Amino acid sequence: MIYILRGTFNQSVSKSYMKRLVISPQTQSSHLVDPYRRKLTYLRISVTDRCNLRCLYCIPSQGMDKLRHEDILSYEEIIRVAGVAVNMGVNKLRITGGEPLVRKGIDSLLPRLGNLPGLKDLSLTTNGIYLKEHLQQIKSAGIIRINISLDTLNPQTYERITGFDGFDKVWEAIGLASDMGFSPIKLNMVVLKGINEDEVSDFANLSKKHPFHIRFIEYMPGGFVDQGTALHHIPNAVLKERLSTYGSLIPISRTDTDGPTTRFRFEGAPGEIGFISPLTHHFCDTCNRLRLTAEGHIRPCLFSDREVDLKTPLREGIDDEGLKRIFMKAAMEKPHGHRLSSAHPVTLAGKMSAIGG
Ligand code: SAM
Repeated sequence: MIYILRGTFNQSVSKSYMKRLVISPQTQSSHLVDPYRRKLTYLRISVTDRCNLRCLYCIPSQGMDKLRHEDILSYEEIIRVAGVAVNMGVNKLRITGGEPLVRKGIDSLLPRLGNLPGLKDLSLTTNGIYLKEHLQQIKSAGIIRINISLDTLNPQTYERITGFDGFDKVWEAIGLASDMGFSPIKLNMVVLKGINEDEVSDFANLSKKHPFHIRFIEYMPGGFVDQGTALHHIPNAVLKERLSTYGSLIPISRTDTDGPTTRFRFEGAPGEIGFISPLTHHFCDTCNRLRLTAEGHIRPCLFSDREVDLKTPLREGIDDEGLKRIFMKAAMEKPHGHRLSSAHPVTLAGKMSAIGG
C-alpha cells in the first residue's frame, strides 16, 4: 500500500482526512509519502540529547538544559517506533544524538534495530571519542557504515572546536574501524571560516590515500554567536573550486542512498569527497527524511520547529495503527522547503543535539 496524501495540505493537517485514514493491519510493506510526493524512507533517531563534546557550532558554551532520563524514549520505545516506521516503508535508520555512544546500553539497542525485518541500512553517527570501545559490538550488530564527525586534523584546533583534547582518540578509532573493515567510513567536516578552512585540502587529500568518504558540510547558522567567535560558513562551491587545484574532481553518479551529498573522486583515489550544502544548495525536493528526537517527537524538517508528539500517545498505550497515523500526520506536516540561508538563520541553537543533526 502506498500512502499518498493528495491535495494541498500545506502546514496543517486535515482532521477529517486523518479520521478517514484506515491502515490495514495486514500491511506488510507500505510507503510513507508526503503531500509533495516525496517518499519518506529514512528515519534519523536521536537516542540522547547528551554529548561529551561542546562543539562551537552545536552547543552553547554555557551548556543547555538536559532532558531528564524519563523524558527520553526508552530503548523498548525506540524499537517499537522504529518497527512501525520500517513497516511503513522506512528502510534506512541512522542512530545519532547527542552522542549516541554516551548512552548506557547502546550496544544492546543496535542489534535489535538491525534485526527489524525490511530494514536495509542501519548506520551510526558519532564523534568517535568512545568509538574504540564500541567497535566490536557495533560490527556484531551488523553496522558497517559509520559517520564520524571530525572537523580538523590538528589536535589544538580539535580542542578549540570541541572543547576537549580528544583528537588522538578519534584518529585511533578511525584507524581501527578501517582495519576492522567498516566501509564506508565517512568523515564529516563542518567547515568554519577562519577556523579550519585551511585544512580542507588536507581532508581532501586523505581520500587519495584512504578509502574514506570525506564530507564537507556547510556550517548552518544556529542563531547564536558563542565563545566570542562569530562563525561563518564557506559556500561549498568555493571549496570545490579551491580543491580543483589538487586534481580534477570526477563526479560519481548518484545512488538512492546519497541523500543530499554531491559526490566526487580524485582520479585513482580509493576514497571520495562529497559536499553537503544546506545553505547554498537546498535539497528539499529530494528530502526523504523524518527525525525522531530524543524526547520522542517526530520532526518532519530539521529547519522547522514543528514537531509531532509521539511519546505522549505511546505512553498512553496507543496501538501500532495509532502510531502509524502519527507518522502519517508528521509526513503531512513536512514542509515543501525551508528558507535557511545566512540571511535567514534557524533557531536550532542548542537543539541540534536533541534532534540529531
Ligand atoms: N555526536 C554525533 C556526532 O558528532 O556526529 C551525532 C550528533 S551531531 C549533532 C550530528 C552532525 O550534526 C555532526 O556531523 C555535526 O557536525 C553536525 N552539526 C551540528 N551542528 C551543526 C551546524 N550548526 N552546522 C552544520 N552541521 C552541524
